[in-house]
Amino acid sequence: MIHGHRPRKRFGQNFLADPHYAQRIVDAVDPKPGDNLVEIGPGLAALTDSLIERAGHMSAVEIDRDLATRLRERFAADRLTLYEADALTFDFATLGDALRIVGNLPYNISSPLLFHLATYEARLRDIHVMLQREVVARMTASPATADYGRLSVMLQARFRVTRLFTVPAGAFRPAPKVESAVARLAPLRESRPVIVDEALFARIVAAAFGQRRKTLRNALSALVDESALRSAGIDPGSRGETLSVDDYVRLTNALAGPTGPRGATSPPRR
Ligand code: SAM
Repeated sequence: MIHGHRPRKRFGQNFLADPHYAQRIVDAVDPKPGDNLVEIGPGLAALTDSLIERAGHMSAVEIDRDLATRLRERFAADRLTLYEADALTFDFATLGDALRIVGNLPYNISSPLLFHLATYEARLRDIHVMLQREVVARMTASPATADYGRLSVMLQARFRVTRLFTVPAGAFRPAPKVESAVARLAPLRESRPVIVDEALFARIVAAAFGQRRKTLRNALSALVDESALRSAGIDPGSRGETLSVDDYVRLTNALAGPTGPRGATSPPRR
């Protein structure tokens, strides 16, 4: 039990118990009065107290009913607007613009949650998240490294992703088996590459990394023929992990042209 609460594994409840790291996260966010702050999974409020103290008010999304009840008892409604909901399906657009998302995220859903948050890119000012260290390594990875993959490309096409610092397992109760790291994501805005067809981009990236050991000629065969790869300046014999984010964007935009993927006029095959 932690402060009278039995941690629920299915909700990824490893509570931050070291005030030093809580302070470092809040300092990295640097909330100011009037900021549109949103915490995902406030839990036992390790971060929430200081975030509210500095921003005056914030919103939060918490899935655990017992924790939501405790949070409502602890914080006045004009300080914390609490949504008892699943962050994976929560519509963050209802919270307005210039959102500043903060969260010590449940590690079991970190990738789908990041993909969900990325869809609100235009409404985001920034995101600060604590995640399993390996996930942060994938988010920030460069091409031709073992960590580079779908998560790296999909996030780096929209955000500047920075790893801030690591947090040892002993800072949490219960202690997880892995180390954690804090990352900042800031929308690229004017330097964001123009992607003509976002859905096609997502499909190409997923296919290229879905079968890591295959050449692009084979991994993308359902979407692109070899000549289209060549005309986009991409070697069909190379593998997905060697392509930069810009390469994926260029390939998508070339395919999204008038003839479409595989030179067909019909929609691309799934
Ligand atoms: N922020 C607290 C801290 O730093 O100690 C708690 C962090 S704990 C790793 C994750 C929190 O997210 C828990 O409070 C958990 O109940 C909540 N949570 C888990 N899955 C969630 C979901 N799908 N939507 C919203 N909250 C979720």
